[in-house]
Amino acid sequence: MDTAMLIGSKFEAGTETEEAILNPRTGATILNLPEASQGQIEAAVAAAEKALVTWSRTTPAQRSGYLLKIAERIEAEADGFSALEALNCGKPINAVKNDEIPAIVDCYRFFAGAVRTMPGVVAGEYLPGHTSMVRRDPIGVVASIAPWNYPLMMMAWKLAPAIAGGNTVVFKPSEQTPLTALKLAKILSEILPEGVVNVVLGRGESVGNALINHPKVNMISITGDVATGKKVLQAAAKSVKRTHLELGGKAPVIVFDDADIDAVVNGLRAFGYYNAGQDCTAACRIYAGGKIYDKLVADLSSAVSTIKYGQEDDTQNEIGPLISKRQRDRVASFVERAAELKHIEITTGGKAGDTGGFYYQPTVVANAQQKDEIVQREVFGPVVSVTRFSDVDEAVTWANDSDYGLASSVWTKDVGRAMATAARLQYGCTWINTHFMLTNEMPHGGLKQSGYGKDMSLYALEDYTAVRHVMVAHG
Ligand code: NAD
Repeated sequence: MDTAMLIGSKFEAGTETEEAILNPRTGATILNLPEASQGQIEAAVAAAEKALVTWSRTTPAQRSGYLLKIAERIEAEADGFSALEALNCGKPINAVKNDEIPAIVDCYRFFAGAVRTMPGVVAGEYLPGHTSMVRRDPIGVVASIAPWNYPLMMMAWKLAPAIAGGNTVVFKPSEQTPLTALKLAKILSEILPEGVVNVVLGRGESVGNALINHPKVNMISITGDVATGKKVLQAAAKSVKRTHLELGGKAPVIVFDDADIDAVVNGLRAFGYYNAGQDCTAACRIYAGGKIYDKLVADLSSAVSTIKYGQEDDTQNEIGPLISKRQRDRVASFVERAAELKHIEITTGGKAGDTGGFYYQPTVVANAQQKDEIVQREVFGPVVSVTRFSDVDEAVTWANDSDYGLASSVWTKDVGRAMATAARLQYGCTWINTHFMLTNEMPHGGLKQSGYGKDMSLYALEDYTAVRHVMVAHG
């Protein structure tokens, strides 16, 4: 197992406070990893700054070549990466291997192609006697900070467009899930020139805070909680750093009376509980039409009660545990508070799992009302609420009545109704008759307090490059 941070071309252990890295399936400590010192953070930023001089002048084709090599190595070591991610996050190994790894590999390949074909404004004589052109140049040193729910995938979403765009990076994984980042760091050091990517370990309030406040960091890219995003904005304001924020979500799912109920139930069983609901796009806030509400709650509850978890043979598991005891207790307390309300009915689940580790039973909270905490706040666990609506205006108003604006879905057989409803939703993404599906060609990102900035797609490459105008007088 790789345990050292990558600073320039050197591998170093941190010298500060140790963090216990846990196996969420059992709660056992895998190993302890010390966090970076201030000196090591300085060295990582200095290495990125130094590498920028030459990396920013490489051609798109050269950078593309490096990205393709990274993709190839991850693909070749898919089994090792999957095992490590499954160990550190408690994810079912098949979910990592079959869902995450191919998407991660494709992310590097997509940006390898995208950087060679970036479109833009045509150069021309917009003032007589002058030729104007638009350039897209690197922003500089990017501090990239990732969460614990998809460690290697969040790393791909952040690294690929940043280095494709000619930037250099100091990357900090979540203090809870650094293992795949350290394995990839080893590979990156064999492929990339020294200092293009540096990986430092540590907690948010210490190492993360030092990075976002560092005067030599030109851009901060973070995926995490809304509260963390706000801290990033405060830090960025001091030196007007560029920011890229992917924060939380509370995805509404509007199910009209004419929807294909079996497809809805199968979809919610998959997309509401995937990764144990630790997903910012999780289909967790259902609004169901009056005529199908009862059947939907009954069918969903029985489908959800069959979700497999906690099996000895991990290939049987559909979901894993939550990442930590703290997260499990947080999820449990949301459900406990909901259950205390007279109108709420917990139709399945509602308790911590009894198999050891940080499990929570897949749960359906029926009869939820719009003002209920369980409808308003992000739970980030295997918990879905269902609320009855009476007409489309009520459904859209409630769906939009949220601080978040990341993802949403609409389920109906009437394509006109689907399009009209999608047009009224204030979300970065609206799926119709599906949910959760992402592709590297399409943007992912939020509105409102879900943040701004896009991951994946050409929009990410735009976010990680600066538009510049160059004008030549003909003389
Ligand atoms: P978190 O905000 O606690 O931590 C995210 C990262 O930020 C970690 O690496 C952490 O160390 C760092 N951090 C924390 N405080 C910091 C500070 N003061 N300065 C600098 N860095 C700091 O979030 P989490 O608990 O790891 O992840 C869960 C959250 O992430 C959820 O709210 C979820 O919705 C969100 N998320 C959003 C998306 C998206 O695409 N919008 C994707 C995944 C997760």
